[in-house]
Order: sequence, then structure tokens, then C-alpha cells
Amino acid sequence: MENSTDGVTSAGSGGAVTASPPASLSPSRAGDFMQCPLLYRFRVIDKLPEKPSEAATRGTLVHAVLERLFDAPAADRTVPRAKSLIPGQWEQLREKRPEVAELFADDPDGERLARWLSEAERLVERWFGLEDPTRLEPAERELFVEAELDSGLRLRGIIDRVDVAPTGEVRIVDYKTGKAPRPEYAEGALFQMKFYALVVWRLKGVVPRRLQLVYLGSGDVLTYDPVPADLERVERKLLALWDAIRTATETGDWRPRPTKLCGWCDHQAVCPEFGGTPPPYPLPVVPAGADDAAQGRMGRD
Ligand code: SF4
Repeated sequence: MENSTDGVTSAGSGGAVTASPPASLSPSRAGDFMQCPLLYRFRVIDKLPEKPSEAATRGTLVHAVLERLFDAPAADRTVPRAKSLIPGQWEQLREKRPEVAELFADDPDGERLARWLSEAERLVERWFGLEDPTRLEPAERELFVEAELDSGLRLRGIIDRVDVAPTGEVRIVDYKTGKAPRPEYAEGALFQMKFYALVVWRLKGVVPRRLQLVYLGSGDVLTYDPVPADLERVERKLLALWDAIRTATETGDWRPRPTKLCGWCDHQAVCPEFGGTPPPYPLPVVPAGADDAAQGRMGRD
């Protein structure tokens, strides 16, 4: 899921934001850079605010409900109980992120809000057809993980659920409130899970036995059993990505990469692809060749 550890700033979250070079990588932001380097810059370096969306906010709400449901004893983890958690979790979300209330500012009679909440109920209910929470005892929920690779690259993220079998085998589970991707796009969906698997492997020295994506939007479960070679491949990919991010950070050269996903981008007004001009680059720029020159000097000293 999208999380608060990876630099996206919500409109209305308040306070001055200071630009700083990226210090770590999360699956969401790695995905941003792969989708469009300029989008990554706007989110991570400029920290431009973004409007909350109904879909993303509902995702946050449903995640909170599924997490809290495990506070109850196993036998009480029922559909009515899960649905009864929705109003309280929505209240808490509005307290934590007041800007989400804007979503329904133009809905005086509360009709849209009621529809939105009942869709959240449907998603929660669908989960019970995919997993049985009375038979699960998660080892961790909403687990923040962070690991440093040998190269110094720091990886971080939040794992929705970690299950550990009595044999010690680890399963990493992520809930998605959207629909499962078509098979040809499954690799992209699994990238996030392999990213988490790599972090867990580096932290605990154990390759997770299973990665599991639970799609509440379509009622599908996608699983993958990784082997070390998969995770080594992901590590190489992340290192190459991080190199590209570092180069763009130093040169200030962040290219837009327009795709149909631009339709969901909050930053079209400042994107050259849509006739906009990005804000002045807030970080120092290293002139091309300066690194080589510095290294040459060091070699002579
Ligand atoms: S509008 Fe498209 S090309 Fe421009 S920053 Fe957003 S995602 Fe990138």
C-alpha cells in the first residue's frame, strides 16, 4: 500500500517543506521513478502536495480495518465485526489527515460519502472469501521495515501482514483494494513483494517462503514463492535504479515520461509535457564532468 514513509505530501498537510536529496528507496517511489522520473522528482525532491483521492483514501481505510480486526480474539473476527470498525477508523483517519475530509466537502447530504463507505464495506466483506482471519495469527501487521544493502542503499517500506508458520516459514501478505492485473502485468505487481522479500532476507537472513497479494477489488489472490536468485535480481535492478536516481539528483535532469498514467498525475500543471514549467530545482546541481575532474585531481594529489 501507499504509505507515509516515502515522501508523498498531501495537500493541506501544512508546514514548510524543505527539499533534500533522496536517502532511501521504497517500492512506491521506485515505481514512480520507473513510471516517470519527473514524477519522482515532484514527489520526493520538490515534495509537491497532492490531493487525496477517493480510491487511495478508501484503500487506507480498508487497510486500517483489516489490521485492527486482528485485535479481536480469533472467533470474533467476523464480517459484522469488521464492518463495525469502519466508522471509527474513518473518524481516526480524518483526525490524522484532516485533508481527506475535503473529498466530501461538496456532498452536503452525505450521499457520496455513504456510497463510498458502502464500497469500503464491500471490499472488507470480499476479503472473507479470500482468507479466513479466524485461522490466522499474524506475526506482524503494518510492519515498518528498513535494511541497508552492502552498497549503502537503504530500502524501506511497510508490509501489511507477516505470517510465520510453526516451522518458521515466512509469508508476506499485501492487500490491494484494486483489481488484480492481467497476467502480462503480474511481474510489475510482484516487484513490490520481491522488494519486501529482499528487505526481510537482508534483515533476518531468511528468504520468505511465499509472497501473497490479496486483491479485494476483484477477489483474486496472487502468490509467488521466491528463490534467492529472484531477490538477487531485484537487488541488481534496485542498485541500477538508485544509480539513475543519484545521477538525476546531481544533474537536475529529470525527464518526463508521458504514458496513459499521466491522467492520474496531480502535477500536469507543472509538467512540460502538458505545457507547464517545473518549479526551480531546489538542490545544487553538479556540472557535467565535475565528478570526473574531481577524481582526476584526487588521483594526482
Ligand atoms: S504528467 Fe505524466 S509526464 Fe508529467 S510528471 Fe506526471 S506522470 Fe510524468
